Amino acid sequence: MRPIETADRLKLRELLDGGLEQGHIWPAFQPIVSIRTGAIAGFEVLARRGDPQAGDISPAIFIPRLEHHGLIGKLSDALIDKACRAAANWPGSFSLAFNISPLQLTSADFPRHLAELVSATSFPLTRVDLEVTEGSLISDDDLALTILRDIDGLGMRVSIDDFGTGHSSLARLEAFPFQKLKIDARFVHGLGDDAGKRRIAAAVIGLGQSLGMTVVAEGVESDEEAAILQELGCQQGQGWLYSKAVPAEQAKRLLETRGTEVAAEPLDTSPFQRMHQLATLYDQVPIGLCFLDTNHRYVRVNERFARIHGLTPEELEGRTIDEVMHGELLETVVDILNDVKSRDEPITHETILQGRSCMVMHSRVTDIAGEDIGFSVLTIDVTEETRLREALAGSERRLQRELDFVEAIFRSLPGIFYYYDHEMRLKRWNTAHERVAGYSDAELQDADPLVFFVEEERQQISDAMQEVFTLGQSQTEAHLLTKDGKRIPYLFTGVRFEHEGRTGLVGSGQDISESKRVEQALRENAAILEAVIENSSDGLLLVDPDRNRIIQNRRFNEIWNIPPELAAGPHDRSQFDHVTAQVRNRDVFVARVVWLETHPDETSSETIERLDGSLIQRHTAPLYDSDGCYRGRIWSFREIAPVENNT
Ligand code: C2E
Ligand code: CA
Ligand code: CA
Repeated sequence: MRPIETADRLKLRELLDGGLEQGHIWPAFQPIVSIRTGAIAGFEVLARRGDPQAGDISPAIFIPRLEHHGLIGKLSDALIDKACRAAANWPGSFSLAFNISPLQLTSADFPRHLAELVSATSFPLTRVDLEVTEGSLISDDDLALTILRDIDGLGMRVSIDDFGTGHSSLARLEAFPFQKLKIDARFVHGLGDDAGKRRIAAAVIGLGQSLGMTVVAEGVESDEEAAILQELGCQQGQGWLYSKAVPAEQAKRLLETRGTEVAAEPLDTSPFQRMHQLATLYDQVPIGLCFLDTNHRYVRVNERFARIHGLTPEELEGRTIDEVMHGELLETVVDILNDVKSRDEPITHETILQGRSCMVMHSRVTDIAGEDIGFSVLTIDVTEETRLREALAGSERRLQRELDFVEAIFRSLPGIFYYYDHEMRLKRWNTAHERVAGYSDAELQDADPLVFFVEEERQQISDAMQEVFTLGQSQTEAHLLTKDGKRIPYLFTGVRFEHEGRTGLVGSGQDISESKRVEQALRENAAILEAVIENSSDGLLLVDPDRNRIIQNRRFNEIWNIPPELAAGPHDRSQFDHVTAQVRNRDVFVARVVWLETHPDETSSETIERLDGSLIQRHTAPLYDSDGCYRGRIWSFREIAPVENNT
């Protein structure tokens, strides 16, 4: 099938030959970069025709003419040869991509021819990509398929170019050995502003990835487009954002500045893949999941979600919410959906569905550019949790009441009560602390116990506390130092407290200032009393109910000639014997005393005659304390002058 040589063709061929020879027609290199890193994965070689008069002429104009006259092969060969030779020594394992015209795919010999052509340049065959457009595959499927398979078999790679503009059938995409898919620039420009383009881009990227192809976006002009493409899982980009097609020298410099990166095995993060992963998840998680579109239609639901409505996923998908829910529930859901549209956070509410308590979470779903595409609904069956929570709340309430009760008792106790942890920091106290010592709760929290004592008692207190931890308990008297500097005598009792591995000290302090005062008064009274007794002109002897001497005065010792050793001696009968030995009617006297000692209430007086004839007036009375309690007996003795007339 040789083209007919016409005058027109002849002229064009001469032009082409001349152009190639003189360098008016030359290969330009446009980098194809990794969107993530910006490193160069390869270059697309684009034909440039720099007409000295007309400047650059777009290949879009001259290529169809060359194709028309069957001269495209000649141009292609020349460009491949020039580009491969130029790039053979550039650093890195970047690839070179060449555009192949549909006509070239009609010659079965083409693959071998190409291989020879490239091999002659010492650029590795394995780094050559051939871009074919969808359109070039329409005519003779079988031959084109054979040719592309041969190319693939020779180690070169084939990319599908301008994807989205032609009519590739999915079957063809599968059948042909494409390793790369180039999304046409028309779906890339303005990706940020056009949801339709985003949907196509997302679908194409997903399609390419699920077929294991590297996806390249053409015509990337802005950072926003690059960001969206990356988010959608597109690995490589080509466009003015990175660089226009440049002459060989410049291309080499680009390699040096950007570095190279061979395309990694495509990581399948496409929406398609995600859908599959999600679909699996959808059916396995113990959570009801649903995706609603903006028209409130169930697009995708899992088994569990459908069951909540008493349906199967197949029955639910495709319906709108108002076909499934009614009345108040429907109103609530519609309100929530309207509400959640203006928020970034999900709205969560609890409701009863099919007799089960469910936590339902509605979120707004947007695409990468922030445009609403629907809602996600997530339901968690919390029936069991709710039951447990309620049961727990019941026992918690009871426990709390108990605690409040104990706390109330604790707080109203008159003494001060406290709990120190093992680091000796005050953790709990009752209100008396505040009332007595004048410290605020904030001041008491974590307070060091020593601040409540004067300097000279601090050692004693710390010893006592130490004792609690070593011996288990301790008691000490010390002065509580109030905030305004008053010192109040207190009796402190502390015990070691252990609970669930924690050790501390619980203790109480009793105000003993009253008993101290009483004790003091008593001591004074006793001293006065003693002085009175001691100096009485009567001989006095006080005995307790057991007949032990409590006190006897000087005059008593004089009257009865008690020697000092006997006066200070033991409480036995020896003093009594010493006294009775001086009495004339001894037996009567002794019997009388014994009778009185066994009759505490009796009061009596008598006159006793001593052996020497002297007379003594004896008087005795029981001793009762202020409570009416028998405390012993007082005996008084007075010497009386003998009544002379009577003798
Ligand atoms: P193509 O294969 O789709 O090449 C990409 C075209 O997009 C190139 O135009 C390139 O310069 C342009 N382009 C690259 N980045 C951007 C960008 O960010 N924004 C815009 N608006 N355009 C960008 P060019 O060089 O005019 O080529 C036009 C078409 O001519 C090519 O489209 C390709 O189909 C064809 N072509 C170019 N060189 C050859 C060749 O050597 N052989 C064959 N058979 N066809 C070629
Ligand atoms: Ca191309
Ligand atoms: Ca293209």
